[in-house]
Amino acid sequence: MIQNLLENLYEKYKNNNDGNVATYIPELANADIKDFGIAIVTSNGKVFEVGDSRKEFTIQSISKPFTYGEALKTFGEAKISSYVGVQPTDEAFNSIELEPITNRPFNPMINAGAISITGLLFEKYGDETMDIILSIYSKAAGRALSINNEVYKSEWKSGHRNRAISYLLVNFNMMTEQVEKVLDLYFKQCSISLNSVDLATIGATLANIGTNPITNEEVFDVSQVRHILSIMFGCGMYNNSGHWAHEVGLPAKSGVSGGILAAVNRQLGIATYSPPLDFFGNSVRGIKVYEDLSKELGLHVFDSMNEGSNFLRAIIEA
Ligand code: GLU
Repeated sequence: MIQNLLENLYEKYKNNNDGNVATYIPELANADIKDFGIAIVTSNGKVFEVGDSRKEFTIQSISKPFTYGEALKTFGEAKISSYVGVQPTDEAFNSIELEPITNRPFNPMINAGAISITGLLFEKYGDETMDIILSIYSKAAGRALSINNEVYKSEWKSGHRNRAISYLLVNFNMMTEQVEKVLDLYFKQCSISLNSVDLATIGATLANIGTNPITNEEVFDVSQVRHILSIMFGCGMYNNSGHWAHEVGLPAKSGVSGGILAAVNRQLGIATYSPPLDFFGNSVRGIKVYEDLSKELGLHVFDSMNEGSNFLRAIIEA
C-alpha cells in the first residue's frame, strides 16, 4: 500500500515545475530541477522508495535539529536556553536579527541559532567537533556520510551573510570570537551529503525513540528526541512553520538544497528531495507530497485517524 501510494505521488507531481532552485550558494544553482525522490522508513526498519531516492544532495538546514540535540546533551537545557530560544520567527532563516532583551537567536532552526550552537560545541570540542557531528549523522543514517567539498567551498566563499550574523552574535557575547573556525564547521555540517533513504532513516531513528531501526544502534536519548521533534514541529519549515503545522501536522525540517525530513512519532521517517523551492525556501514538490501523505495516511498529529493516537488510546483503555 505504501509503495503504491509513493509511486502515485511521484507520478502526480513529477511534472510540477513550480519554484526555483537556491542560487545564493552558487554550487546549489547547478541542481537538476527534475530530481525528485521520496523515501519512507518505518520504525521497525522497512524501506519504501521511489524516483531519485538514491540521489545525493547536501543536508543544509536539516542538520540543525541534530546539532541542537548534541548541544543539549553536552551542555544541558539551562545553558543552551541562554544562548538560543525556542520561539518561531516570522523572519527568514538568514535574517540578521536577535531577540530583543535576551539578545539570543529566536531558535536553533535559523542560521543565527545554529551558528551560536555550533560555536558552543566548538569551544568544548575544538577541532574534533566535525568528527563528532559527522559521526552522529552517520549513525542516524546507518552509513558513513561525508562532506560534499564543492558545496562546502562554495558556501565558504559566498557566506558573508552568515559572517554578518556571527559578528552580531559575538557583539552580544553569544559566540566565541573565533568566527571563521565556527563558520568553517557550520558550512561543513551543511555540506554533508546524503540521499532520501538516508534522510528517511534518520527520521525513523527519531520515530523509534532514538535507536536506528536498521542497525539497532542507539543514537539519541529520549530527552533529545523530545527536544528535537518539538523544535522541528514549531520552527522546522522556515517562516511557513505555522501553516505547515496546520496542514501537515508533523515535526519536520527542510533545507535550501530541496530536502524535507519528517518523523511520525513511533511510526515513520519520511524524506523528500526536489530542488525547486517556494518563496519560503521549502521544496515545492516536497510540500505537495507531504500534504497528500498526511491526508491519505492520517499522519497529522491531531488527526483522529492517527495510529499514534490509537496506540495511546489502547494504553489508556487497557
Ligand atoms: N547553509 C545554508 C545557509 O547557511 C543553510 C540554509 C538552509 O538550508 O536553510 O544559508
